[in-house]
Amino acid sequence: MRLKNLPRLAHQLVLVLLLGLCAAARGAGYRQIVLAQNAHPAMAAAARLMAGKLGLPETAVAPAATLAPPAAGQIVLVCAPAPANVGALLGTTPAALKHDGYAVVFQNGGAIVYGTRPRSLLFAAGDMDLWQGRGPEPWVRDPAFALRTVSLHGSRPIAEYVAAVGANLILGRYEGSVTLEKTLPQVFAQLSPETQRQLRRQQQSGAARIARMVQECHDADVEYYPLLYGNDLQRWSSELYNAVLKVFPKAQGQPAPTSWETAALCLSDPGARQVLRAYVQEFASQGGDGLYVTFWDHYGVHCQCDRCRGGGLGTFPAELRACVQAYYEALEPLHKKMIVRTWSSGVPHWLGERWVHAPGNGSFGGTGAELWGAVIRDLPAAITIQTKVYNSDCQPDPPFNPLLGQARPHTEIAEWQITGQTTGRFYFPAATVAHTAWTMKKSLALVGPEGGVNLFPGGTHQSNYDLMADIANSINVYAWRQLSWRPDANVDQIWRDWATAIYGPKAAPHVVKALQLSEPAVNRLFSALGLGSDTNSGFPSNIERRETLLKYTNRYYLPEGQKALEPTLENIQRVIAEKDDCLRQIDQMVRELELAKPDMRPEQAAELATRFDWLREFGIVARSLDESLWRFRYLRHLAQQQTTDPEQLKCMAQSWEIIKAHRPRLFRFDPAQKFSCYDVPLGQLKTKPSLGSPISLMRELFDTARQYVGASVPPEQLPPPLGTPKEKTPAAVGTEEQ
Ligand SMILES: [Zn+2]
Repeated sequence: MRLKNLPRLAHQLVLVLLLGLCAAARGAGYRQIVLAQNAHPAMAAAARLMAGKLGLPETAVAPAATLAPPAAGQIVLVCAPAPANVGALLGTTPAALKHDGYAVVFQNGGAIVYGTRPRSLLFAAGDMDLWQGRGPEPWVRDPAFALRTVSLHGSRPIAEYVAAVGANLILGRYEGSVTLEKTLPQVFAQLSPETQRQLRRQQQSGAARIARMVQECHDADVEYYPLLYGNDLQRWSSELYNAVLKVFPKAQGQPAPTSWETAALCLSDPGARQVLRAYVQEFASQGGDGLYVTFWDHYGVHCQCDRCRGGGLGTFPAELRACVQAYYEALEPLHKKMIVRTWSSGVPHWLGERWVHAPGNGSFGGTGAELWGAVIRDLPAAITIQTKVYNSDCQPDPPFNPLLGQARPHTEIAEWQITGQTTGRFYFPAATVAHTAWTMKKSLALVGPEGGVNLFPGGTHQSNYDLMADIANSINVYAWRQLSWRPDANVDQIWRDWATAIYGPKAAPHVVKALQLSEPAVNRLFSALGLGSDTNSGFPSNIERRETLLKYTNRYYLPEGQKALEPTLENIQRVIAEKDDCLRQIDQMVRELELAKPDMRPEQAAELATRFDWLREFGIVARSLDESLWRFRYLRHLAQQQTTDPEQLKCMAQSWEIIKAHRPRLFRFDPAQKFSCYDVPLGQLKTKPSLGSPISLMRELFDTARQYVGASVPPEQLPPPLGTPKEKTPAAVGTEEQ
């Protein structure tokens, strides 16, 4: 065993030595980081991060009673106001910083890192690879947007996270618990003693968790806003809801007859409004600098009672106005700010098995501006409005949201959801850099430098996953970070900086080419002719669901979308040509990977090879499915004209054979293999990599198309339906729908 491991050990030793040499060369010989003894904890954290990046021990961080200009090999950290002796060396550089940026001034073989405030030094630490070894010109970085908010992801310390993403506000999770004990004691009195004790306990432990989070954020000199999701008291707490109805029986709402939207409370009822305010106030009082709220999915005030309909409520725009006003009135006495997210899906959509009547963006619910108009117009400008850049739920390469830029005088935030949600959940390499680049520029033009940007990073429905550690998709967060500070930055340079740090200078150019190709390839694999796909990337299980999904990018409602759906032979060919192009791009990705392999670490090469294979096999199946969908739609149209085209069915039979052959090849892996982005080997993942099965959709497409053809062709000329048991091979049985 030992002998067998020797070459590997020698290889690792050489690698460690080389990395050490590279760090020394890149580090311009920095050996010590000096900061004031009483420096803010964010600056101390920045100093430790810098030492780590330089390969120095923590003892290289040197707190000093009085700061002096740097000697050779020293980095001196200062924040405004800089002490006079150091500040004199900065010249006019600080004047270039309008927001919470930083500047590095190189001096005598050392450097002064100056920040407008303590967290600025964390941003400088995050960027260290970019500025160390530079000079003599000062390096100046000031964020383009005043406000940069990021949802929690991963388990690294907040200071390190802030350094990496360049944000100044952390958005938390739904935390803590409300009892209503002090705010509505008559409601609390209705609870059983056991429930009362349980709610108090939950509130105590929640408060402790929130306090720790607030402290950690303040130590990093950033704000913390907990998330209050949805607006449904029944879902927030069924015990409290039942108790509320005992005290305020008229507070109960009356839902619409066939709507996903519920009506736990009726906002026309003064008691209901009082309860809502009390809940929000107590929730926000648990801790944090403000509140982050979103009104969809668990929205519980779509009441259709006579009072609401007669009194002007009962419609989404009026309800939203009433809700946001109630929240504002709850938070204002606490001097807490609020960020309201305008997310609503583009069209009526599915959540699980349920059809969601969510309004907005040009469907029957009206446009975003119609939906949010009353909130924007009538409520105080102190309420910050956050809108996704996507004019739909997160979708591959979606159109831009026309609501952005419409919310003045409110501060506006543009939101990106970088979770791989609609592009294969980040199992595949799936860059979104080009999309982030153009949407960032457009967002800055619309919301302005005093506006904000928001990032929701992660890997939807993945377990054990850390996007920041992903050697394929962390580029999406890195590019967002760089572009949110400088929307006009050179995107190719961003790619090079990111790839060189991970893969080294020789492999990096090939990896960059491969991953750049992944953006159009993945977008169009999931979005046939620009139309929509499953919000969580899974294979749809039936035709009805698949045709619903076509609406998701909202192009369905545009002339271009309707043209793409016309049942013509030309459109079938367009789908085939599009998917063939995707597969060619994936083949090119594989070739670039082969060129990079000799200069990569073996585990990096193995990981990318596995994930490229996952993408390729998925692409082959997606091609057959989409092609068959368009053939099916063509045959359905012909059947309505009492005619048919049996050739289409033959092509669909070939697609079925392809899908059957490739179904077992989807997501092949060695259980012992370890990816950069997972904390365990693939065999130990809590969620097994999968996007479900294409079998049942293909079966339904074929069998239904066969019936259409059968209306015009004698049965003996038809192939047997796939639904018959004899078509089920032993391998296919048991691997069908999951
Ligand atoms: Zn009502």
